[in-house]
Amino acid sequence: MTHDWKAIDAAVRVEPGKKSKLRARDCIGADLFPEREAAEEALKECAKAIDELQDRLWAERSRALLVILQGIDTSGKDGTVRGVFNKCGPLGVNVTAFGKPSEDELAHDYLWRVHMAVPKKGMIGVFNRSHYEDVLVVKVRGLAPAEAIEQRYAQINAFEKHLSENGVTLLKFMLHISKEEQRERLQARLDEPESNWKFNPSDLEDRKLWDEYQAAYETLLDRCSTAHAPWRVVPADKKWRRNAIIAAIVHGALEEMAPAYPRVDWRPSDFKVE
Ligand code: AMP
Ligand code: MG
Repeated sequence: MTHDWKAIDAAVRVEPGKKSKLRARDCIGADLFPEREAAEEALKECAKAIDELQDRLWAERSRALLVILQGIDTSGKDGTVRGVFNKCGPLGVNVTAFGKPSEDELAHDYLWRVHMAVPKKGMIGVFNRSHYEDVLVVKVRGLAPAEAIEQRYAQINAFEKHLSENGVTLLKFMLHISKEEQRERLQARLDEPESNWKFNPSDLEDRKLWDEYQAAYETLLDRCSTAHAPWRVVPADKKWRRNAIIAAIVHGALEEMAPAYPRVDWRPSDFKVE
């Protein structure tokens, strides 16, 4: 690998205990993977390496990786799943998209459906949206009492600490796009017949609440970037750079986990396949 993933990670990470300064973070990230060709090459290499490491993770079956993708409409959550995990065998990766809670889900506490979807040991789990919607859309649209929402930041930190102490490594990415980029992407959904199906009039309602969403994001980044589960704010106006950054960090983190094939306690030479 030619890139320095630690430097990339340091540039996008929200240091625990520090303010995220979301508004000061740019959506372009030109210093990280300046060249498109090199970024696409790095993405390819990392995606392949992620697959190999996942194979070891499964053989080991003692730990799991949970990748959380958050971002406003059109920020590229689906595209990230496709771009970063497309080399992984379908048996090793579980993707869960969290939409509006069902009646049954609403009848439980908000973490219930989330905990059920946490990857089992040996797996990589990817969340397309997550429990963070419960301090985003729920807050901005007033879907729960303010006091209840206020308690959730500490609850989420405790939940994630519990997971991390029980063999789950968490990687949380906010896909950070500019308001102008979102305008173009929403417009493209109207202009391109094959993309019309992706358009949802409610996306325009959410776009009107842009500032409220940014503020809600800033609050969760300030309060839920912890030592056991720090946030990364990924410049996402350029899709190829977004994918390269996320793939580099997922790959780097998996390498640090260093999953290894188990050693057997018997001698293969004692057996003979007839
Ligand atoms: P999409 O990701 O475009 O398929 O849309 C999923 C929708 O579900 C988004 O509008 C989210 O805001 C919404 N959503 C996700 N989680 C929740 C939640 N906990 N409460 C209410 N709405 C949610
Ligand atoms: Mg949507």
